[in-house]
Amino acid sequence: MAKQDYYELLGVPRNASADDIKKAYRKLARKYHPDANPDEPNAEAKFKEVSEAYMVLSDPEKRANYDRFGHAGADGQGFGGFEGFGDFGGFGDIFDMFFGGAGRRHSHGPEKGADLRTELELTLQEAAFGLEREIKIARTETCSTCGGSGAAPGSKPVTCSACRGVGQVQYAQNTPFGRIVQSRTCDRCQGKGKIIEKPCPTCRGTGQNRRMRTINVKVPAGVDNGSRLRVSEEGEAGTRGGPRGDLYVYIHVKPHKIFNREGDDLICEVPISFVQAALGDELEVPTLEGNATLKLPEGTQTGTIFRMRGKGMPNVSGFGRGDQLVLIKVATPTKLTDKQKALLQEFAKLGGGHIIPHADKSIFKRVKDAFMG
Ligand SMILES: [Zn+2]
Ligand SMILES: [Zn+2]
Repeated sequence: MAKQDYYELLGVPRNASADDIKKAYRKLARKYHPDANPDEPNAEAKFKEVSEAYMVLSDPEKRANYDRFGHAGADGQGFGGFEGFGDFGGFGDIFDMFFGGAGRRHSHGPEKGADLRTELELTLQEAAFGLEREIKIARTETCSTCGGSGAAPGSKPVTCSACRGVGQVQYAQNTPFGRIVQSRTCDRCQGKGKIIEKPCPTCRGTGQNRRMRTINVKVPAGVDNGSRLRVSEEGEAGTRGGPRGDLYVYIHVKPHKIFNREGDDLICEVPISFVQAALGDELEVPTLEGNATLKLPEGTQTGTIFRMRGKGMPNVSGFGRGDQLVLIKVATPTKLTDKQKALLQEFAKLGGGHIIPHADKSIFKRVKDAFMG
């Protein structure tokens, strides 16, 4: 794949000053830094691209070569080894070189706890009207014996002597760009900056314990299958005074015997006899709130849909309620007594024995036309 021009990547003119190049890179690096874009898969690639462009354009000699020979010249001049760019310490370290680590999350500050996920199964009725439900979850809690410090009562964590409490140690490394100082997590304290000499007996020095907790979850009316509720700060405990993560409750609505949901509308199928269809009737139709009466007109066809306004699901955002759609299915009798048969034969003699397809007149006409030429 052809590489994009380094100047274009940074959005600077070819005669840009070293300062302009630095400014442009800072802006882009902040924009695309992977720590700032955890959900953007392209950010990392973009970040590497702009970093590579900066590495070349910020070095007067490399920039001169690039200006003369372009990417091909760059490769020929021995600094095309950017394919292995990610291997020489990671772009996080490069970011630190420019911004003094300001853009990175340091592991010894307060950190938000991890999010938790749980599932909740509801009936359609429960989903329709909402409810409060107690959910039991296992989660980490800040240790009450040591208050989260991890040190046994009466003792305190002490500052790590290897990193002097910073959690990071610096080391120099030779790279294709020259000698650069990088930092890595302190081995002695694992980046915490503090060492626990006498661990708390309850949490064994971790500062946290796993506990079962009962959380009260409010489910709003109208939730659908697959809805996700966020219960803020009910996830895992944070560390070093950071806030809790969030709890996400995924809603699973059990299929209903009668109703199918379509957005905020509910659809149900109601079978009627052909007598009801022909003569009309008052039907008892099930709804979310018990039976309701539906007036069936004379001559109702199978497949007719009646709309009962406002009898569907409440809209989860509070925009009223959906409708209930009643799909009529005319059932043909399968077992007839001799007397019923005789009456139907009589009905047929009176002219009720044949169907004239008026609803499908156009199809009827088309078929007729096809045969007649
Ligand atoms: Zn403890
Ligand atoms: Zn240390």
